[in-house]
Amino acid sequence: MTARRHESDALARLAEAIAAHRPAAFSCSFGREDMVVLHLLSRLPLPVEVFTIDTGRLPPETHELIALAQRRFGRPVRILAPQAAAIEEWTADYGPEGFRASLDARRACCAVRKVEPLARALEGKRLWITGLTRAQAVSRAAIEVLSHDAARGLFKLSPLADWSDEQVDDYLARNEVPINALHARGYPSIGCAPCTRAVAPGEDPRAGRWWWEAPATKECGLHLSPDGRLSHARASQRPIDQQETA
Ligand code: SF4
Repeated sequence: MTARRHESDALARLAEAIAAHRPAAFSCSFGREDMVVLHLLSRLPLPVEVFTIDTGRLPPETHELIALAQRRFGRPVRILAPQAAAIEEWTADYGPEGFRASLDARRACCAVRKVEPLARALEGKRLWITGLTRAQAVSRAAIEVLSHDAARGLFKLSPLADWSDEQVDDYLARNEVPINALHARGYPSIGCAPCTRAVAPGEDPRAGRWWWEAPATKECGLHLSPDGRLSHARASQRPIDQQETA
């Protein structure tokens, strides 16, 4: 693949999928890859709703980037929040910081704060665009560029699926795309504040997410089907819980 071929490929993937499957929505968590997708979309005159999920536990640096990105790209961002009653129920069951007590408790928190708002955001959509790459995590090594998410009844596009971390960094630098200030402080992957920490040089980039869990379980549920498989992985991939840890 030539130096910029991956870039034109991603633009073509976006244009073709958005034209074929409307309405389209981009779930943006404002990570590095998502900022690339946001910038790529700014180069395409096609209707795409951009939304993000404010879990209520995001770090202030992510809120600052959301505001900056809206100013920079002039594109409205739909911000979804969890349902208050569901958070109250989860907190009553597990306690305010109960997500570290067990994998079930953590997944229940992600279900309330992330997965349910995602379902609302995707209602009525025919295309779900993500910034996932295979390089991000062992649990994402088999994602497809375009797949059909039967459980949600839509197509799912990850236009950067085959991009390397270096290609992402190169695109961000060449286009002066703003990124989360936490990246410069050792946070390669950023989620909710209590479930994200900085990593040491050379450490796995996902090591700072849910660091008390095994690598193969580090998915919040946004990209899982009811059977536990990634909703856009090749059919042969085993459920997340049954994968070997790297
Ligand atoms: S990342 Fe942590 S705080 Fe955020 S929804 Fe998941 S368990 Fe809850």
